[in-house]
Amino acid sequence: MSLQVRSQVSLKPYNSFGVDVQARLFAEAHSDADVREALAYAQSHDVPLLVIGGGSNLLLTADIQALVLRMASRGIRVLSDDGSKVLIEAEAGEPWHPFVQHTLLQGLSGLENLSLIPGTVGAAPMQNIGAYGVEIKDVFAGLTALDRQSGELREFNLDECNFAYRDSLFKQEPGRWLILRVRFILDRKAHLHLEYGPVRQRLTEQGIEHPTASDVSQAICSIRNEKLPDPAVLGNAGSFFKNPLVSAQLAATLKGQYPDLVAYAQPDGQVKLAAGWLIERAGWKGFREADAGVHKLQALVLVNYGSATGLQLLDLAQRIQKDISERFQVDLEMEPNRY
Ligand code: FAD
Ligand code: NAP
Repeated sequence: MSLQVRSQVSLKPYNSFGVDVQARLFAEAHSDADVREALAYAQSHDVPLLVIGGGSNLLLTADIQALVLRMASRGIRVLSDDGSKVLIEAEAGEPWHPFVQHTLLQGLSGLENLSLIPGTVGAAPMQNIGAYGVEIKDVFAGLTALDRQSGELREFNLDECNFAYRDSLFKQEPGRWLILRVRFILDRKAHLHLEYGPVRQRLTEQGIEHPTASDVSQAICSIRNEKLPDPAVLGNAGSFFKNPLVSAQLAATLKGQYPDLVAYAQPDGQVKLAAGWLIERAGWKGFREADAGVHKLQALVLVNYGSATGLQLLDLAQRIQKDISERFQVDLEMEPNRY
């Protein structure tokens, strides 16, 4: 299929905030050949290229004067299987959660804690997606990316990706790497991570003493469905701020002032604070101005009640940042990618 480039396309259906901005040019890539054609098109028409997946980690603040390329390549294949470990590869455009479900149906464990995260396989390495104590780096085996500077393909192993909390080399070098496919090493024997938040409690409530990976996935899906707004119903980009890492000294001072502060000591001596707790404590939970707001059940999630603009959402986010900085001396960093 050759590339179909359209002009002046609304990106409202292509970002989970549901923000209505126009892309000057828009196309979908179903193959490596489409990707190369899009790059050549952008170059010959002298426009930048912006790659997107599911649009679930974007804040679009203006019309996009670029060729927006939505990754729509599909395909999942097993590369090796020694009866215990399975190396599996998925194309960038594969939707993430159905891919997780596919692996579970094959009896493979490793991705269950990352159930129900929106978006695509190709975007998952961008911020080393994580939830309930697992990040993709824990099961990552490699990826193939196109270097947009040289036009060459490059294979990355785990060490080369610089994965960190909601971070990676691909985020650190924006616009350089176009991820084409990602590989994971999964296990036929489940090594479950149940100690995080309410996961074990939910399984116990369900009377499940010896859970399978699928049981864990289902428990996490039900917890997430209760707590997080569905972007199809209420526009949002998940957590809007990263959980801040602060010094042990500041954490101790804050704990003295706020004994119910939610804080987790990190191996490097720093302390991770729950950004949602800070925002809720500052009184923002449920706040709404025009159509931009803070979710009623989860203060970490900014929401679009219908016609909020990206700039209104950004303005709200900046006011929250300022307030948190003044109250707690903590700087919050925004998580979604801003364009
Ligand atoms: P997009 O939003 O389309 O793009 C994100 C960034 O990646 C952009 O900078 C884009 O340019 C770039 N990009 C996309 N595809 C490629 C590619 N193939 N090659 C190079 N660059 C690319 N995140 C978590 O980590 N954990 C969670 O638990 C979580 N829960 C969420 C819950 C909800 C309700 C929502 C709305 C979001 C949540 N997120 C979570 C955030 C988001 O789903 C993830 O970051 C996801 O990986 C984004 O995928 P996407 O395909 O939508 O990327
Ligand atoms: P939660 O369970 O209410 O926990 C609040 C915060 O405390 C989380 O942000 C989490 O940090 C941290 N936390 C909880 N238990 C922990 C433990 N045992 N050790 C260390 N830290 C702990 O969080 P939630 O908002 O419902 O989200 C549940 C999970 O899904 C979290 O992992 C969260 O990151 C992930 N999630 C991410 C997004 C996103 O857009 N990025 C959206 C929704 C959910 P961490 O965030 O560092 O894990």
